[in-house]
Amino acid sequence: MNVRRLVCACLVLTGFVGAAPAWGWGAAGHRIVGDMAWHRLSPAARAEVDRLLALDAEYDSLANACIWADAVRSDRSYRWASRLHYLNIPKSESGYDEDRDCKPKTDCPAGVKCPPRDCVVSAITFYLDVLRSAEATDGEKLIALKFVGHFVGDIHQPLHAGYARDRGGNDVRVEFKHNNTNLHTLWDTVMLQNMGRWTDLAESLNNDLKDSEVAARVKVWAADVDPANWAAESNALVPELYTLIPKSGRIGDEYQAENTPLIRMQLQKAGVRLAAVLNTALAKTEVGEKGAEK
Ligand SMILES: [Zn+2]
Repeated sequence: MNVRRLVCACLVLTGFVGAAPAWGWGAAGHRIVGDMAWHRLSPAARAEVDRLLALDAEYDSLANACIWADAVRSDRSYRWASRLHYLNIPKSESGYDEDRDCKPKTDCPAGVKCPPRDCVVSAITFYLDVLRSAEATDGEKLIALKFVGHFVGDIHQPLHAGYARDRGGNDVRVEFKHNNTNLHTLWDTVMLQNMGRWTDLAESLNNDLKDSEVAARVKVWAADVDPANWAAESNALVPELYTLIPKSGRIGDEYQAENTPLIRMQLQKAGVRLAAVLNTALAKTEVGEKGAEK
């Protein structure tokens, strides 16, 4: 199997370089993660995901539901969630330290149940707790499912565990195929635009997981269900994303070719791990106990 082809999903919605949201794999990447997870859900988890999505007027599949958290980013009522898509780790440090890298949340609106701390690690942990809670309403669980599906994707985009000093690469101007963009957007969406339709890419990534060489890795990925480890793992990938940039800042096919395997692998990891945590969280859900509130 070709691990070197791991990089991209394309943000069809964006249309041009530089317009992508500054926090998250583009829509294509998030859909791919959701689709890959869906293929690996247990029957019980699938049934619960289906039950919750049946309550949603907009999103009819896990793949599509994974883009909701970006869709509401311009909604003032969800402004409090903007820092839940990422975290920053000082360049001089390695690994994830909760006190240093994930500050207590201070802007939770009245009446909203927010993660206790303000970063993607805390968000994933918190919303998984909501999904397995016997007290949470179905409406709360639906939101939790859409947040978890999105944030597990985000945390596997290495620059979502990047450096504060350049805002995860947002301040690093680069040129990609004669278009001005920045390093973060390049990784969120731009390179994915070169990889074809998201459905084709998801199929390719799913098929690659059947390869016997990859299967061993998949077991290791799925066994690590601690988002703090995922953040540290992404952060460890970050330095190379910079060293591969030519001094000119002009990035082309070589950079994409070098990083495509990594992108593909991160998307696969995210899909495998999203399925792993949902299978655990939703296995014990007592269906319907709080009714079908939206
Ligand atoms: Zn995001």
